[in-house]
Amino acid sequence: MRYARLRLLLPPEAEDRLVAELAERGTLGLEVRPGADGRLSVDAWFPHPPPDDLASPRSPLWAGIGAELAAVEEIGDEDWMAAWRQRARPVEVGRRLLVDPGEPGAGCPAAERARRTGRRLLRLPARRAFGTGSHASTRLAVELLDEVDLAGRRVLDVGTGTGVLAFAALLGGSRFVAGVEIDPTAAFLAGENRALNDLWPSLVAGTLACLADEPRFDVVAANLVAERLEPELPAMVARLAAGGELVASGLLAAARGSFLAGSRRLGLEPVAERREGEWIAYRMQLRFSS
Ligand code: SAH
Repeated sequence: MRYARLRLLLPPEAEDRLVAELAERGTLGLEVRPGADGRLSVDAWFPHPPPDDLASPRSPLWAGIGAELAAVEEIGDEDWMAAWRQRARPVEVGRRLLVDPGEPGAGCPAAERARRTGRRLLRLPARRAFGTGSHASTRLAVELLDEVDLAGRRVLDVGTGTGVLAFAALLGGSRFVAGVEIDPTAAFLAGENRALNDLWPSLVAGTLACLADEPRFDVVAANLVAERLEPELPAMVARLAAGGELVASGLLAAARGSFLAGSRRLGLEPVAERREGEWIAYRMQLRFSS
């Protein structure tokens, strides 16, 4: 497989909008660095060839965000995240975790930091799966899961990516955790991450339709962009026990109203809201089953 690397320059305040747009367009990975002139430099990877409207410097999409498309390069089938893993730094996520996106087993100074800070080290090497703690939506979801009493509960993680939320739920004391992931590569990597961390959620490569209807779950966690989250809401609610909780992350302010209205219709009431930058996440409780 060949890849396209798009290099974009933009003012720092436009970062969240750009990242959301690229995520919606299916970017395979992003790297954000300070640029030379006070702007940010963002590299975004796509399968080659990239969609025409993304590959053109005159695209109204870039103008709308205030971003400049500085370069489009074709990259061969190499492990383009290897250099990124070399530079990646561990991030504290929620109350308990230190997530290390670096090369697994490379001396691992993160282990020492985890010991010092009393956090559990989670090794989630940056590869082709989302959820290494570098994105606000992941951090918000973990923070909300930290608020939920998970002891002895059954948890479903919809769109598990690296498995980060499933691992967080197990560390929070859940009795059983299932992760569902539509992208087979990510599902495979989540499986490898289980062995790296000696944490063993059940994993399903597919959608919610692959799961049995019963028994239901006490908690459902989903960090998905609104366009993917909203269509899945009825299926998530169908697998949630009465009184159960939904942790929903990955929303931007523009999607908030429609998400809240849709979830209320299904019997979900917001219990807590958290924000970081433009990203919003909710903890909701199922008041009645429709
Ligand atoms: N849970 C991780 C990853 C979130 S990214 C975290 O919080 O960081 C969202 C993931 O959901 C992606 O890996 C994507 O492939 C997957 N996904 C999107 N729609 C899905 C669906 N309908 N069912 C299952 N997985 C889905």
